[in-house]
Amino acid sequence: SIIVFGSINIDLVATAPRLPAPGETLLGEDFFKMSGGKGANQAVALARLGIPTQMVGRVGAHNFGAELIHDLQVSGVQTDNIFVDETVSSGVALITVDYAGENQIVVIPGANGCVNQEDIERLSYLLPTATALLLQLEIPITAVVAAAQAARSTNITIILDPAPAPSNLPDELYPLVDIITPNEVEAGQLVGFAVDNEVAATKAAAVLLQRGVKCAIVKLGAKGVVCATAEETFFVPAFPVHAVDTVAAGDAFNGGLAAALFAGLSLRQAVVWGAAAGSLAATKLGSQTSLPNRWTFDAFLKE
Ligand code: ADP
Repeated sequence: SIIVFGSINIDLVATAPRLPAPGETLLGEDFFKMSGGKGANQAVALARLGIPTQMVGRVGAHNFGAELIHDLQVSGVQTDNIFVDETVSSGVALITVDYAGENQIVVIPGANGCVNQEDIERLSYLLPTATALLLQLEIPITAVVAAAQAARSTNITIILDPAPAPSNLPDELYPLVDIITPNEVEAGQLVGFAVDNEVAATKAAAVLLQRGVKCAIVKLGAKGVVCATAEETFFVPAFPVHAVDTVAAGDAFNGGLAAALFAGLSLRQAVVWGAAAGSLAATKLGSQTSLPNRWTFDAFLKE
């Protein structure tokens, strides 16, 4: 199986003509509640592609916890190792979007912020059964490092999505990681120069390899993907699609990438799968709702 160790959030989205000013109450238009969190999204992306997927993380017992677990199960994710915390809220993102698409977001880490050594222990029991571990940065960085350390002692593939963009990462994390998958913004933060084209992405990937990762994959949105290892560097274009909402496109990419590696495909083919899943997710609204199932995915790749 593949393990995802990371965040589980509920997204509460309000739409309004404009964003409210401080102290102002504004009449909005619509309200949506959606399951999200980068960890949960990546788990759903994998499970929808038919990969046996274990989610390890935390939700709050009293706010949205049961619902978040239910949504993961409906997509086929194994949730036995999600700890239901009695003492905190589930992770919540309060999102206001205006008619121009501008947004304002408050994230309460809640249970995600409480991920700790106990969760590493539950993870450690699963590691011998798994071929890959997917990590992101919406839980404490100490937990991310500990998870990578625990996994490094097995020969599992560790894939780190350095999102949301960190100001920097602990030096000791890089050599623990097999594949790092920043987008343009995250790559720019990590290497300290702007990354918005293939040339800059190739340079950024080289810097990340220098820091100790075995493979760096820089996601350039509609512009495509640069992938570099010690042996090869190559570019994979994005699939031309009519993009309506790129939320969770990056999570779909990581799911597609890991699914292909699970299926024993080459790194290049895995990047193509990542790009296909990302591009498909960009054609639909929402986060988990936009993640393709196996049938849609296979049909898209065959086109
Ligand atoms: P993130 O969602 O992490 O910011 P990207 O925006 O780079 O990452 O999107 C991840 C992947 O999703 C891209 O590598 C690409 O395959 C796909 N994708 C994103 N936006 C588009 C788009 N407008 N058209 C086609 N594919 C897209």
